[in-house]
Amino acid sequence: MGLLALGTALEWPEAKKRAGQVREWGIKQLLEIWNKAKGKERDAMLWGDEVEYLVVTYTEDQQKVLLSLRQAEILQALAADQKLAEEGCVPALQDQPTHKAKSNPLPVFHPEFGRFMLEATPGKPWGIEFKELLGVEPDMKLRRRIAKDHMLAKEYPITLTTFPQIGVPGQFTDPHYPPSGPRLRSQFVPDEIANPHIRFPTLAANIRSRRGRKVQVNVPVFHDKNTPIPWTDPTVNFELDKWPEDDDERNGAAPKDFIHMDAMAFGMGSCCLQITFQAKNITEGRQMYDQLSPLGPIMLALTAATPVYKGFLANTDVRWNQISRAVDCRTPEELGEKPLKNDRWRIPKSRYASNSTYISTDPRLREEYLDPDLVIDPDIKAQLMDGGMDERLATHFAHLFIRDPIVIFEEDLKELDLNKTDHFENIQSTNWQHMRFKPPPAENNIGWRVEFRPMEIQITDFENAAFSVFMVLVTRAMLSFDLNFYIPIKRVDENMERAHAVDAVLKEKFYFRKNLFPLRPSRTNTVFGDEGQQQQQQQRADSAMQSRSASPPGLPVEEEYAEMTIDEIVNGASDGGFPGLVPIVESYLDSVNVDVETRCQLATYLSLISKRASGELDTAARWIRNFIAAHPQYHHDSVVDDSITHDLIGAVIAIGERESAGKDFAGLGIHGLPRLLGHFRGGCGGSGGAQWRKREHFFGSS
Ligand code: ADP
Ligand code: MG
Ligand code: MG
Ligand code: MG
Ligand code: MG
Ligand code: MG
Repeated sequence: MGLLALGTALEWPEAKKRAGQVREWGIKQLLEIWNKAKGKERDAMLWGDEVEYLVVTYTEDQQKVLLSLRQAEILQALAADQKLAEEGCVPALQDQPTHKAKSNPLPVFHPEFGRFMLEATPGKPWGIEFKELLGVEPDMKLRRRIAKDHMLAKEYPITLTTFPQIGVPGQFTDPHYPPSGPRLRSQFVPDEIANPHIRFPTLAANIRSRRGRKVQVNVPVFHDKNTPIPWTDPTVNFELDKWPEDDDERNGAAPKDFIHMDAMAFGMGSCCLQITFQAKNITEGRQMYDQLSPLGPIMLALTAATPVYKGFLANTDVRWNQISRAVDCRTPEELGEKPLKNDRWRIPKSRYASNSTYISTDPRLREEYLDPDLVIDPDIKAQLMDGGMDERLATHFAHLFIRDPIVIFEEDLKELDLNKTDHFENIQSTNWQHMRFKPPPAENNIGWRVEFRPMEIQITDFENAAFSVFMVLVTRAMLSFDLNFYIPIKRVDENMERAHAVDAVLKEKFYFRKNLFPLRPSRTNTVFGDEGQQQQQQQRADSAMQSRSASPPGLPVEEEYAEMTIDEIVNGASDGGFPGLVPIVESYLDSVNVDVETRCQLATYLSLISKRASGELDTAARWIRNFIAAHPQYHHDSVVDDSITHDLIGAVIAIGERESAGKDFAGLGIHGLPRLLGHFRGGCGGSGGAQWRKREHFFGSS
């Protein structure tokens, strides 16, 4: 579970003084990695998912659902059993479903920011074989069962993005602690809500100190028919005077019509679904990073699952901006509220935000797609280029390195170790962008990786597997067909904002590239599939990449993309003008050898994605909204009270339990469930077939 080494964490004013040293050493470590690994070739096409859980205590007859703060105890129990299992003797873990892939080691559990959270990853990354895609869902179900097996009877791991009642007045954690502690200084949540490892409370406290006030996580309230206009968040205490930060609320931090939250836990206490891909080499990694970037907002809207905060319905559907604000460490000068005096630059975005630049060497990357106002540290860029890095990648890192490191351990500043990457990772891992370019770590055989980070966690493992596998297939189709998703990076930012709207998946339009295919179709064959052919196919792919000359002037950039609905982007435009991601994935699957069983399971996943995009099925956010609206205790005043929360969490637990036991949902009687999940139970041969507007002819090749 990778516990971080303990040490003396510097408080903010001290940490600030050492920031330059961390950056300087971080850049030296980065150049060391770069020089060692830039020529790394033929790494395997591995990938892995990360699933995050909330741990709640729930009993049927007790009205109050609480967040369990037993993360450390649960992880300890898991780690002890994992060790026993490795030695081959642990009854608790042996009684697992037989569909568990025999070769795959047990899942791994990790701590997270919230002391009520867990993260689980597969025991080892998934490989290139299509068959392996069938192992993902059983492995996710196994993780849920193992996690549950190491909890108290009343505790459950659930995959909701946020706990609907985090920060409500009174008790919402088990055990209860009063708010307004010295680290977070939050009116609503206690310091004990964060993982107690010194790194986490220090992260929260130093973000607050650097900012010069508490973070402001304000979400517009959803105005229902009985919600007062204007609406004042009734939980805000304007009288409190324990910390200087209590003035924030009096100084306008809690505007009308917004649900007001004031601590890192409101954002970093959210759960998501992340996918990491290993590329065969750095060039392919850079290509994947760029090409997956424009898909970020689309997948955020498609996975929307966050309609409630602090006991109120929100007028947004996703978690993204709330996390962004919850860790926004920018000072008033950096925010542009005061003239620059002590700080070096104005910074338009939080350190948690959509990514701001492209990094590929792909000649299709036009200058116009980049942001001319990207803030970078020119000295760092020069150092990287002096060290041999090309300008484009140096620009990316010089952008990440405009940030200060937030948590610095005194012990780490004694001596620079170039065999480590700790100082580089300090900055890199606190730049929470929707894509992350992960260089090989110092000491093992891992390659260049790209992480896709925007997706919201889904309630069931079926859905989590579906979205993970979909991203894998899109990525493979993208590499195989050499697809081009480029749009100006600023448009990706705009899309990220649009993804927040209620039902954005159906109601918003998103900027998307009209023609995804290369000018000269370079290959219709896959670089994946039979391991034996892989090398030869890779060579073919490489030469296709090289033979592609710099794109001719072509269209003005603005004509390369259009505003499309997610239905059009995913399922294709009904006028045939745009093929759609699911049909592209289908064509890709047609071009490779996939056995019938695998193809059938993949069709079920693609069907879920397709129906979510078309509106035939609801997002989790829409399902939760409808569940609340139909609840007898809901007064259409935006308030999500104890009894509604109880029944919602009860429903989510029931769904999760049935699912991980491989049973259907018959008889559960949960409001709106068929519109969330459709009728996919019963596996292949059911109604999992193709629903999208399939177009066979758009490749013109077959
Ligand atoms: P982080 O939290 O830093 O994003 P984690 O260690 O939690 O990273 O895991 C990220 C995912 O990457 C996991 O699913 C893991 O299985 C997967 N993974 C590990 N090694 C590789 C690799 N070489 N290539 C691709 N994925 C990998
Ligand atoms: Mg992780
Ligand atoms: Mg992590
Ligand atoms: Mg995580
Ligand atoms: Mg005061
Ligand atoms: Mg991750």
